[in-house]
Amino acid sequence: MKTHQIDMTDGFSGEELLSGPVGLTYRDFLVLPGFIDFNPSDVDLESRISKNISLKKPLISSPMDTVTESSMAIALALQGGMGIIHYNNSIDEQVEHVRRVKRFENGFITDPIILSPENTIYDLDIIKEKHDFSGIPITEDGTFTSKLIGIVTNRDIDFEQDRNIKLGHVMTKELITGAVGISLKEANNILKTSKKGKLPIVDKHGYLVALVSRSDLKKNKEFPDASKDHNKRLRVGAAVSTLPESWERVAALYDIGVDLIVIDSAQGNSTYQIEMIKFIKSNYRNLDVIAGNVVTKDQCKNLIEAGADGLRVGMGPGSICITQETMAVGRAQATAVYKTSQFAKKYDIPVIADGGIASIGDISVALAIGASVCMMGSMFAGTNEAPGDYFYENGMRLKKYRGMASLEAMKAGGDKRYFSENQKIKVAQGVSGAVVDKGSVTNFVPYLSQGLRQSFQDMGYKSIPLLHEALYNGKLRFERRSESAQAQGSVHNLYSYSKPTMRVE
Ligand code: GDP
Ligand code: 5GP
Repeated sequence: MKTHQIDMTDGFSGEELLSGPVGLTYRDFLVLPGFIDFNPSDVDLESRISKNISLKKPLISSPMDTVTESSMAIALALQGGMGIIHYNNSIDEQVEHVRRVKRFENGFITDPIILSPENTIYDLDIIKEKHDFSGIPITEDGTFTSKLIGIVTNRDIDFEQDRNIKLGHVMTKELITGAVGISLKEANNILKTSKKGKLPIVDKHGYLVALVSRSDLKKNKEFPDASKDHNKRLRVGAAVSTLPESWERVAALYDIGVDLIVIDSAQGNSTYQIEMIKFIKSNYRNLDVIAGNVVTKDQCKNLIEAGADGLRVGMGPGSICITQETMAVGRAQATAVYKTSQFAKKYDIPVIADGGIASIGDISVALAIGASVCMMGSMFAGTNEAPGDYFYENGMRLKKYRGMASLEAMKAGGDKRYFSENQKIKVAQGVSGAVVDKGSVTNFVPYLSQGLRQSFQDMGYKSIPLLHEALYNGKLRFERRSESAQAQGSVHNLYSYSKPTMRVE
């Protein structure tokens, strides 16, 4: 129960702040502090990404080819967020990423490296060097679609001088296996009592379906916030374009169990998008569709009326984006988020604030002005789970991050978001660059979440719905920041200082 009164003459309501003629961004204003009568750990960050799907953390990753493939989507879903798999790939490739997320089971390696009895010890040496493990199941022909006939571990090969010996001669053939459907706990018990290092899981035909590793026993953590569907499988979204190829793509993604589709378009208010929403909603009734991108009420109206279950908001705020520069169309992101959320609320449709988020404070502000969840590209690029390898520049460990409308990504097929027809001359709306190493999402998301809980405590609200209620009844108070206030709000007057890094070990 709140015991304090809010003086409505101090500061400004969201409506007063964001209805002027000047578009505002996240850093142009602050939320005034509220009353604290709870701890950060009492804050509940649960929120809806779409009409029918809630997440424990309001954090999702952008469908970009340097941000979200299966590793990112698995790591985020385990932490309570969600990844949206990009579509700068073939239908089969995108489906495979979704399949990996949906098939993921904590502790089960569902795509182990397999060899055949014809492979040599030398082949295994190469795998060990590259991946750092040597417990390899052997199937009749070295694929998933043949019988498991043995397993090779370090102990079978470490004294062998001749590395050309075939694995069929050295593998262990007396196998202890687990049956498909076995729980992780049961699998771990077998590993403990049998004192083996690996437990292959097989189906009724003797085909390998997964592997459980003894060394993972200690690492297996519980993920109480994990985003899961009704069958307890991790949740994952996938993006598609408005081009006709998406009809086939959506069908394949639906078959593999994708949880929601994001129709990816830089300017979502089009007949192409409306037709795509209607196509999906009429053919796949239980599949949620997020439409966008939009920044105005009119745009929202058309997409909501077509059947959208969520809206993705942002035109031009992305860190890699040059849309506003090249097209002179778009909207300042805070104004866009406020206006669209205010409109979509009437239809009970959640808004995703997409792009331009570079700090915990930006996430808080986006939620405070009506967004239900935040979509981020650059924040998650540079983590271990983002696609691509690290490289060094001037002593910094970096990973590539590029806009989907950068020339580089367009060459690889990523222009579907920006063009509805094949155009010979392509005008880039994004750049490619690099971001610094941020470590693993497994550590980064808890760091973001803890920061958010502290921010919510300062604002005086325990949950996103309560924050939104205060936004719309005017009790959440804001204030513009002058340029000098912004300067004063960041580090100043120091000879030197070290910036806190977002990399979390
Ligand atoms: P090994 O005994 O040399 O195979 O290595 P460990 O069992 O000590 O470590 C293997 C680690 O790699 C575990 O954390 C596994 O979960 C992980 N891993 C990931 N993919 C695979 C795979 O395809 N095969 C194996 N054997 N391990 C994998
Ligand atoms: P960030 O989180 O890095 O600030 O922005 C990520 C968002 O930028 C994406 O979710 C997407 O909406 C948008 N985006 C991705 N690639 C491009 C691009 O090449 N051009 C533009 N205009 N926006 C992009």
